[in-house]
Amino acid sequence: MAGPAQVTVTVDRARCMGTGICVEFAPGTFAHDDQAKAIVLSPSDDPTDIIASAVEACPTGALHLGPEEPEEPEGSEKREEVER
Ligand code: SF4
Repeated sequence: MAGPAQVTVTVDRARCMGTGICVEFAPGTFAHDDQAKAIVLSPSDDPTDIIASAVEACPTGALHLGPEEPEEPEGSEKREEVER
C-alpha cells in the first residue's frame, strides 16, 4: 500500500532560537513550546518535501531530517517488514 513517505524529524533544542520559520513552512509538523522552542508534532500532516523545505530554511541548523525509523538500540528485538 502506497502512502506518504514517513520521515523522522528531530530538533536540537540548544540550537533552536525560536524564529518560527519552521512553523510557518510546515505548521502541521512544527509548533512552539512554552519556551518558544520548536517541537515536532506527530503524526505530521505535511508532505515530506514541505518538511524538507522547513528543515533547510532553519537559520540555525537545529532541524534534522532522517529516515523513517531510528536505529534499534543494540540488544533490542529487530522489527521486520514484509512486502505483500
Ligand atoms: S526554524 Fe529553526 S530556529 Fe526557528 S523555530 Fe524552527 S527549529 Fe527553531
